[in-house]
Amino acid sequence: MRIIAICSPLGGVGKTTLAINLAASLAELGKRVLLVDLDAQSSATIALGLAMEGGGSLYSALVDGTSPKDVVRSTRLPNLSVIRSHYELASVDVCLVQRGQHLTRLREVMAELRALPDFDCIFLDCSPSMGVMTSAAMAVADELLVPLQPGFMMLPAVSCLLGQMQQVIESGVNPGLHVGGFVINRFNGDTAELDKLAHELHAHLVPDGSCNVAYPMAIPESTALAEAPCYGQTIAEYDPLGRGTEAYRSLAKEFLERHHFLRYG
Ligand code: ADP
Ligand code: MG
Repeated sequence: MRIIAICSPLGGVGKTTLAINLAASLAELGKRVLLVDLDAQSSATIALGLAMEGGGSLYSALVDGTSPKDVVRSTRLPNLSVIRSHYELASVDVCLVQRGQHLTRLREVMAELRALPDFDCIFLDCSPSMGVMTSAAMAVADELLVPLQPGFMMLPAVSCLLGQMQQVIESGVNPGLHVGGFVINRFNGDTAELDKLAHELHAHLVPDGSCNVAYPMAIPESTALAEAPCYGQTIAEYDPLGRGTEAYRSLAKEFLERHHFLRYG
């Protein structure tokens, strides 16, 4: 069982799209996946068509003391469960800081979920804010998964993220935290261009270039990927034969290659 936080200091780079479609593709491959929406804007909740339904949210579990099990809800997709967000989550930072629980409360909630035999992996869809909830996600995650959009902000965003990750590691709360992978999003270049981008990234991360964390496949710019959330659908539901669906299926297979223990059972 693995907890993966999908985060980036930038908004609009594809965190939520990655969270939903990687989670759904892994569920399609038979993995039992829980997607937790940590963003008060609730994009993942809305994009899965779950915003108008009743029942609790992450806020209830973090603040009101509702058992985390009681806010997990199944979805129409077999093997995919969700803990929804709610706009009230915007005030949770202040509340948890006042209680001195900003790095611990999400950990407690996730510890209960981790102990359940129900899931193979849990994805945390973070907000673009590098504030309290993202630090809380870093305090509990086994690893980070980071979508990147090519452009001048790509490397500064990586530096900013690694800085925050280092702070969490140095706080002692989650010394094993690391980046499990970068996913290049909205990329329409060829393999040679993708390799060049990956090299640039690796050179920025580790001067000797030995680190191999960029996924070897990119997610293309695709109108269908932009449209699917408007219909409350995953890309595989909205455009089953399209390039976006194919890209996410191949990303999910590579994800399982990198997480051997998830491949069986
Ligand atoms: P974040 O969660 O990082 O803020 P989103 O996943 O919500 O970013 O993506 C921002 C917008 O870009 C959304 O409207 C989404 O549908 C769109 N988008 C994301 N990835 C792609 C892509 N590969 N091609 C086209 N549109 C995309
Ligand atoms: Mg988002």
